Amino acid sequence: MKESRLPGLHRMSIAERIDALAERDWLDPTDAARLRESAALLEKAIADRMVENVIGVFGLPFAVAPNFVVNGRDYVVPMAIEEPSVVAGLSAAARLVRAGGGFVAEPPEPLLVGQVHVVDVGDPGRAVRALEEASAELVARANALQPSLVVRGGGARSLEVHRRALAGGIAIVLHLVVDTRDAMGANIVNTMCEGIAPEVERIAGGRAVMSILSNLADRALVTATAAIPADLLAAGRRSGERVRDAIVQATELANADAWRAATHNKGVMNGVDAVAIATGNDWRAIEAGAHAWAARDGAYRSLTSWTVDPDGRLAGRLVMPLKVGIVGGSLLANPGARLALALLGVESAGELAGVMGAVGLAQNLAALRALVTHGIQKGHMRLHARSVAASVGTPPELFERVVAGLVDGGDIRPDKAREILEGLQQEARVAAGPATVHGRAAAKVILLGEHAVVYGRHALALPIPDAVRASLAETDRPGRVRLYGDAGADSGVVERHVSELVAFLARKLGAAGRHFDVELETRVPPGMGLGASAAVAVALARAFDHVLGLALSDAEVNALAFECEKLAHGTPSGIDNTVATFGRPMLYRREAGCVETLSEAARPPLVVACGRARGITREQVAAVRARFAGRRDRYNAIFDEIDAIAVAGARALATGDYVALGDLMNLCHGLLNALQVSTPELENMVHVARTQGALGAKLTGAGGGGSIVALAPGNTAEVARALERAGCRVLTIPQS
Ligand code: NAD
Repeated sequence: MKESRLPGLHRMSIAERIDALAERDWLDPTDAARLRESAALLEKAIADRMVENVIGVFGLPFAVAPNFVVNGRDYVVPMAIEEPSVVAGLSAAARLVRAGGGFVAEPPEPLLVGQVHVVDVGDPGRAVRALEEASAELVARANALQPSLVVRGGGARSLEVHRRALAGGIAIVLHLVVDTRDAMGANIVNTMCEGIAPEVERIAGGRAVMSILSNLADRALVTATAAIPADLLAAGRRSGERVRDAIVQATELANADAWRAATHNKGVMNGVDAVAIATGNDWRAIEAGAHAWAARDGAYRSLTSWTVDPDGRLAGRLVMPLKVGIVGGSLLANPGARLALALLGVESAGELAGVMGAVGLAQNLAALRALVTHGIQKGHMRLHARSVAASVGTPPELFERVVAGLVDGGDIRPDKAREILEGLQQEARVAAGPATVHGRAAAKVILLGEHAVVYGRHALALPIPDAVRASLAETDRPGRVRLYGDAGADSGVVERHVSELVAFLARKLGAAGRHFDVELETRVPPGMGLGASAAVAVALARAFDHVLGLALSDAEVNALAFECEKLAHGTPSGIDNTVATFGRPMLYRREAGCVETLSEAARPPLVVACGRARGITREQVAAVRARFAGRRDRYNAIFDEIDAIAVAGARALATGDYVALGDLMNLCHGLLNALQVSTPELENMVHVARTQGALGAKLTGAGGGGSIVALAPGNTAEVARALERAGCRVLTIPQS
């Protein structure tokens, strides 16, 4: 016998689930292959024959609920449903009931009532008598209209005559009770009713106005029961008895309150309908019958009842009309329904109804247990988050993280999922960087001497190693720029700038008119005075050098990058591209270029922190130039002082005299403030660093926004944390 326990099914991939079902014989090899190829779907051409005006085929998730045992037999239940939680809840409830011995189902009788409504009856009493006397004849007439059904052991069984009072008089309503065997029977019964209607009119002496089945299928009532040992119901700190009693009370509430009963029964139908749809049955007919039955005595009530049995178990019972079929209608025209019925392995419509009754009861148990314990939203939200994550095309490797992000945020919407996904993808891109690297460059931090360097004075700069990486690939269409890391944060502007540089370098290097795709990863943000643009230029020039096989010297790369810098900054000092190219700590002077490279060991314990506002080098340099024009002597005195500070700083750095170096940094910051390139934000950042014990702190780069550098031997972490608390982004620079 096949076992419907399929441990770990929910953790498997779709392909693995199909394999697991095929291995255990739930799916035959052909159906398994069809599912793997998504060929078990309804084709448009067949759909076009099923209903009118077809424009396509609409899909739903097709799932299975394992664990079912009904009347001692295992079932894996096929379900077509879009609502999260239902399949999971059902599988868990079926497992509970399985542990208690499984479901017992009494299949319905395969009886469906057809009605002929007769009005304008002259003498209702006589009509009733005449119809009752003619009942055998009318049943025989009905059967003559469906000989193949009779051959199968079905057919019209009896006839009942009812009176209904209308405003215009008494109407006679004839009920033809038909055994429709394994068909749902709507068409069979309709054919019979329409066929006998003229004879009914004649006998009754009235007018037959309608001939059609009734969907209140109260002759086809299924009963499903289950008993679950109370201890299996325990949830968290709630004892099994407490959960059991709460479920019993929940039914009582549903029977006392129609608003609750509607939701209670909706839970039942979550399961019943999903199986009905999967097996090609008419779920509207089932719904209509279920709710009409639930309101049969004038008050709308629960379709299930839960009580405590003499052994203290939770005893559930569902009774509802279920007139379903395994043949007939368009059921077998749908390959999905055919496959679902094969998977279920039912041999009669009654057996199918029994399983559906068990499913309805199990679904009700799952919903009530969740409701009276942790509430319905917990599991629901996670599953809802899964479908939202899927709806925005989350790739499998990021799926669980997007779901977790949605659940944690409590805001489960597609735009939120997209935001989380983009964040994670950006993170992954930063971590991965370009696949291959053709050119690298350092960024820089000016320790002493900015602005004065533009006027021919010394500046002391340190590299931020490996800050930009570039790769280049020739293409025959207009090239694309792909940014990773910090550049990605401002992609529009940076992308345009990079495209200009690529075109410029291509022209300069004899590749004019050729197209290149560029991948660029930067680890320092642009606009922060850290030489990001020069580093980009150097990395690109090196990437061109590699791809075009030019064997450029560092001096040539540096010269090219300087020209790129002129495009970006107007009158750059050249220090950024020089540090970017050589990647060494250096004392620099404009006319001479690099005056002195310092030992690699001269990497002091620095903290670089970026503020919120950016600085635009071109604007700051121009503003200082304008002020310089009016007060050359005073400004030259400041520049001379900065020059002396930079030279002294180089010596302090070389000897590791951090106290002297810190002092020089503080002085330099004061002078830069005198040049009016500091801002309140930069002042505050400098203040934060100094109060945390930094020996020196100053703005770095052109100012007007951007970043500061602090010298903090022995307390870089504290200074970094304080700056982060103040809202800064802190960069770590490898130290010697
Ligand atoms: P059907 O018209 O296809 O009739 C069933 C056919 O299957 C009969 O020809 C019967 O001879 C044959 N058959 C083969 N093997 C059988 C077996 N073992 N047992 C019984 N019949 C067997 O289908 P139906 O069940 O009469 O009608 C169902 C369709 O009617 C559904 O698609 C439903 O949506 C639709 N419908 C519903 C309503 C309603 O519910 N109010 C109204 C109209 C139509």
